[in-house]
Amino acid sequence: LENMMVSYEKMSIAGQLAAGVAHEIRNPLTSLKGFLQLLQAGGAQKEAYYNIMIDEIKKMEQITSELLYISKPLTDFRQMEPLGTMVADIIKLLTPQAKIKGIDFILNTAGDVLLYCDRSQIKQVLINIVKNAIEAMENEGTITIDISKSQSCVHLKIIDEGPGIDDAIIHKLGEPFFTTKENGTGLGLMVTKQILERHHADLQIYNNQTKGSTFDITFYNTKS
Ligand code: ADP
Ligand code: MG
Repeated sequence: LENMMVSYEKMSIAGQLAAGVAHEIRNPLTSLKGFLQLLQAGGAQKEAYYNIMIDEIKKMEQITSELLYISKPLTDFRQMEPLGTMVADIIKLLTPQAKIKGIDFILNTAGDVLLYCDRSQIKQVLINIVKNAIEAMENEGTITIDISKSQSCVHLKIIDEGPGIDDAIIHKLGEPFFTTKENGTGLGLMVTKQILERHHADLQIYNNQTKGSTFDITFYNTKS
């Protein structure tokens, strides 16, 4: 029964994805066609047209590369990995982007906690969530990442000081192509949820009492 439920779930996600891809790719294609027709007719604002066309192509490029990531075969390289080191790597990677906005990172961890995981997949999860945190924050502030351990569980919290997430949309996060950003793909959290599901990890998203939101992940850290 459990297997059947999983495959139904996958089917409906595939269906949602197909509809989403068709929609998301059709819009830039329609726009490209329009601008090509304008150029063909000898339109005067060539430079402006080219710039728009390049933006549309970039958008399609971004969508297709994220989709390719999702459709990668489920090769699994799970082993015990030092989570603190992985988080530190991601902080290093995203520090230039954060610094521009005056955002600092705090990493709290008691020793280097070992996590049974596929290292590159969990790094992808970290990138997706931390990038969103940076993008959510207007200017200045701190992104705090807490790592802790209890019995056989590993807890990972990413806490930002952005505007938080509206109650009306919080359940939509992770739906394919759900984005509130001008140039968002709405695929980051879908990939994140998929990877976490594969790891039998639980993701909770909530608003903080003071400011911003928390992405709270529990790994059961077992080899099942
Ligand atoms: P994208 O970043 O391309 O919009 P995501 O799947 O990564 O797609 O995120 C979906 C949406 O979730 C975002 O557009 C944003 O509205 C919301 N979101 C994600 N993380 C945060 C955050 N830390 N603070 C506020 N909103 C967020
Ligand atoms: Mg994102």
